Formats: sequence, structure tokens, C-alpha cells
Amino acid sequence: MSSEEIPERVKCLIIGSGPAGYTAAVYAARANLAPVLYTGLQMGGQLTTTTEVENFPGYPEGVSGPVLMEDMKKQAERFGTDIRFGIVTQVDFSGHPHKITVDDTKKIEADAVIVATGATARYLGLPSEEAYRGSGVSACATCDGFFYKNKDVAVVGGGDTACEEATYLAGLCRKVYLVVRKNYLRASKAMQARVFATPNIEVLFEHNTVELFGSDMGLEGARLVYRKGTPEECTKEIKIDGFFLAIGHTPNTDIFKKYLQLDEQGYILTEGVTTKTNIPGVFAAGDVMDPIYRQGITSAGSGCRAAIDAERYLSELECGI
Ligand SMILES: Cc1cc2nc3c(=O)[nH]c(=O)nc-3n(C[C@H](O)[C@H](O)[C@H](O)COP(=O)(O)OP(=O)(O)OC[C@H]3O[C@@H](n4cnc5c(N)ncnc54)[C@H](O)[C@@H]3O)c2cc1C
Repeated sequence: MSSEEIPERVKCLIIGSGPAGYTAAVYAARANLAPVLYTGLQMGGQLTTTTEVENFPGYPEGVSGPVLMEDMKKQAERFGTDIRFGIVTQVDFSGHPHKITVDDTKKIEADAVIVATGATARYLGLPSEEAYRGSGVSACATCDGFFYKNKDVAVVGGGDTACEEATYLAGLCRKVYLVVRKNYLRASKAMQARVFATPNIEVLFEHNTVELFGSDMGLEGARLVYRKGTPEECTKEIKIDGFFLAIGHTPNTDIFKKYLQLDEQGYILTEGVTTKTNIPGVFAAGDVMDPIYRQGITSAGSGCRAAIDAERYLSELECGI
């Protein structure tokens, strides 16, 4: 076996460089676990794609997403985290130590692994949606709703999340259109009742968004088609400042699904209030295990919990417990 083929051995490997990964790194490094962190393609995670973050504690004036994530990276590095650019392409959690392959070539063996690979919001795939991303188009009402106070917005989707986001935005905005592809809502009866009882929500059933339009200043409206492909098909324009996608997220768990227990949407299942997965020594933190909250601060919080769980696991391992 050549020296290149000998796997590198690490105590604690962190996969992902969002708030969960970097926070886990700060805690793991300060606990002397000598963490190695692989950033993945999106160094700094989802928050690097947003301009202003106003709800992360510690920044009274708000902070730009890239600056916040650079600060977290520096803090993780300050305590000795080995931060590397690379994508984990394969894992083998069938025994101990855990085997990880990076960029299809580099082999690593780790005593503990923290999975913090996040979740990706689904978009409709319209070119105009891409053009206004961050200047009118958002996939997170809790994050961006405040920017549309007293304005008109639309939410796309017919499930619980869409209804939840529409009612949340109705408390901030002048008018909320809920654009639903089908002629019914998939949301629970209770959520539907809340939507229908909210006077400033208008549900547009059987409408498809085909285009967004606006100017250099931002989004100004959406073009919708009613009953697409039927004799009643017609086009309608709504004037809106914000367009919120609520058609689901895809957790980044493909490479783990052979070993880790996932829920029906693909989120990693964890044990009780811990970050323990079904595999001893593998922990999950952040959006990848959280179908409900999906915020910077909640991800950071679970990154902290994962590092503490990993530290306890490793010390028990060392003591042979
Ligand atoms: C546009 C936008 C605006 C937002 N605004 C706010 C806001 O204002 N406030 C707020 O609290 N939240 C906001 N959010 C939500 C917030 O960004 C997420 O909840 C948070 O980033 C999740 O953190 P995470 O660490 O779990 O994952 P992510 O931030 O998604 O990071 C995942 C990391 O995993 C890496 N990765 C994935 N696969 C691999 C792999 N195979 N190998 C190695 N690495 C991998 C990626 O490169 C990335 O670094 C916003 C989200 C978006 C998209």
C-alpha cells in the first residue's frame, strides 16, 4: 500500500461550513478534539447568499450574511479547527472508525462525525425568479418577511409550510396572495382554517406562476396563469414586492441514506433532544435534521449540541465505556 492510500485518522470530522458546522467546530476545537472541517461547495453555507441578517443575536445593527459567516469561520480557526475546502462524496458508517471519502479520492477515518450539510430550498425554476433572488424572491418568511412590512407579497405553495408562512406574513404585510397550483390546500384543516379566517390573505387556487417582473430596484409583480392547459386558461398579473417560495426543502442527505435513518422527507432523525443519529459516533446538526425551524441561530445551537455530544462520546470511547 503506498503512503497516499493510508487513510488520515482524525478524532472529529465535521461536514459542512454553515452556522451548524462552524459552531460545532468552535466547541469541538475548544474541547481539544482537533476537528477537521470540510466546507463543501458552498463555503459558509446558505447565509452567504443573503445580504442582510437582522435576527442573529450579537449584531444590533444587522450583519451581511457573508460577513457573519466569515466571522464564524475565523472564530473556528482561532481555536485550531483545520478548515479544508472539499466535498464529502462517500461515507461508510458500517463500523468503527467511520470511513469518509473526500472529492472521490482522499480517505479519512474518524472516531466521531458531525453531519451539518444543510437543506436546499426548492424553487420553481423560472429564470426571472433567479434574477430577483435576494431582491424580492425569498424562501424564508421568518428571515425576510420583516423587509416587506406593510407591502404586498405572494406565497407559493399549498401545504402546511405555505399556510404557516402566509399567516406569518399576514401579520406584517398589507396583503398576502397564497398562490396554489391545485384547487385545494394540502395543509391540515386547522392551518386551512387560519388562512381562511385571515382577512388580508387571498387564496388563488389553480394558479401557476409563469414569470416575475420588476426593475433594477427590485420585484414589482408576478404573472400567473389560471387553469393552465384548459379552455378557461387566462393570465393574471398581481402587483407584489415580495415572492415567497414555500414548496419544500431538500435536505442534503443523499450520501448518508444507506446508513442514517431519515424521515419521509429525507431529514436525518436524531434521538430525543440530542444530535445522536442511529449510528454511534455520528451526529447531525442544523437544517439537515430540522424540518421545522431552519434558522441560522437554531442551526448554530444544534452545532453546539453536536460538539458536546461528540465530546462525551469520544471520552466514553477513550475510557472504554
Ligand atoms: C436566502 C436565505 C436567507 C436566509 N436568511 C436568514 C436570516 O436572515 N436569518 C436566519 O436565521 N436564517 C436565514 N436563512 C436560513 C439559514 O441560512 C439556514 O437555516 C442556515 O444556514 C442553516 O445552517 P446549516 O449549518 O444547517 O446549513 P447550511 O447553511 O445550509 O450549510 C450547509 C453546509 O454544508 C456543506 N455541504 C453540503 N454537502 C456537503 C458535502 N457533501 N460535503 C461537504 N460539505 C457539504 C455546504 O457547502 C454548506 O457549507 C436564510 C436562508 C436563505 C437561503
